[in-house]
Amino acid sequence: MVWDGVSSGPEPRDLVIDDGTISAVYSAGGAPVDDDALSVDLDGAFVLPGLIDSHVHLVWSSGADPVATVENEGEQLTVVRAVANAQKHLQAGVTTVRDLGSNWDVAVTVARAIDRGICDGPTVIASGRTVIMTGGHDPFWGIFSDGVDAVTQAVRQQIHAGAGVIKTAATGGAYGRPEGEALGQSELSYEELAAIAHEAHRFGIKVAAHALGTEGIRNAVRAGVDTIEHGVFLTEELVDEMRKQGTVLCPTLSVYSIMADGVNGSIPAYATEKARTIVKAHRESFAMAIDAGIPIIAGTDAGAPHVQHPSLIKELAALCEYGLSPTDALRSATSVAADAMGRRGKLGIIAPQAPADLLIVDGDPFADIQNLGQIWGVVRSTDRTYGPGFTVAAPHPYRVAPQGG
Ligand SMILES: [Zn+2]
Repeated sequence: MVWDGVSSGPEPRDLVIDDGTISAVYSAGGAPVDDDALSVDLDGAFVLPGLIDSHVHLVWSSGADPVATVENEGEQLTVVRAVANAQKHLQAGVTTVRDLGSNWDVAVTVARAIDRGICDGPTVIASGRTVIMTGGHDPFWGIFSDGVDAVTQAVRQQIHAGAGVIKTAATGGAYGRPEGEALGQSELSYEELAAIAHEAHRFGIKVAAHALGTEGIRNAVRAGVDTIEHGVFLTEELVDEMRKQGTVLCPTLSVYSIMADGVNGSIPAYATEKARTIVKAHRESFAMAIDAGIPIIAGTDAGAPHVQHPSLIKELAALCEYGLSPTDALRSATSVAADAMGRRGKLGIIAPQAPADLLIVDGDPFADIQNLGQIWGVVRSTDRTYGPGFTVAAPHPYRVAPQGG
């Protein structure tokens, strides 16, 4: 059963893969027999596009205080940690991650290493360092930029560094630092955010804005950013503006529930306290966004306190619990996410000419989203395969005896 990432449910299909690309999709049994081709029988299994996590931090450890860990470990160890974290996503079928903040542009380096085949990993679309006001949200990986000229220069600097997306901060946040940051406090101004969006878009690069408070979200939406990260304090008027602008929402629901829980008091108390004020407002804002038909993309903030690499299934379950349909939840981690990254047809889809990034699972994810964890195997468009269904020692990635499924 194959789900293409777009339609309302899976259908029986045959897929033909050639050199890491999906070359054809046939009705089940319709693929022409080719003696030179290697075939894998997946009867009883479900095949989906490789999943996309739209908000991760590969440099972060998922420990109780990842900012402190980066400070303690330093740059070189952090690079190794980021590679290992990226590979954990891939092995769970997350074949693309969007990384929205890394010290020293580490995630941009990891993206490049994977692209060049130096190491295995998912496709990484990385911002590297972020464009923020002096003293703004997540200062440890921010480029302090005040005024239109400074933010324009910072955007150009990140594009030159190889960033695949620009990350900025329109408001304060919950975790990051103990003092000097309030949830509703807006940070970069409308004029500065508009300059960021204008400059990034001139080079075909999307902009993601960290925005929790109402005023900052309004500034970011009017400035023309592409995705609002978190979007905690929305209003009916704001979701209306988002719909008209085509702004996408990446709510990151589960990270705030985890931080609000505090995990036996291990998470810094200031973050737990802030997260507790977020959770209720977030639920109401998310409902407004769904009602207004705002495109939703699944992002986990993986790496943040007690948010594992990977944890996309947990976020998809939260999206469903908060009111998204299972089909829309699966789209939020495939085709809708690809659209939001400007990669329509290139990611998050099973269609001719799309890269063969595939997740194969043993149970129907439409019946139960947790079935995404029943991994038969993962196919990467680099011709690499992972998971129990594929024999590690196989001389060719597709020359395998199917097991189970
Ligand atoms: Zn984040």
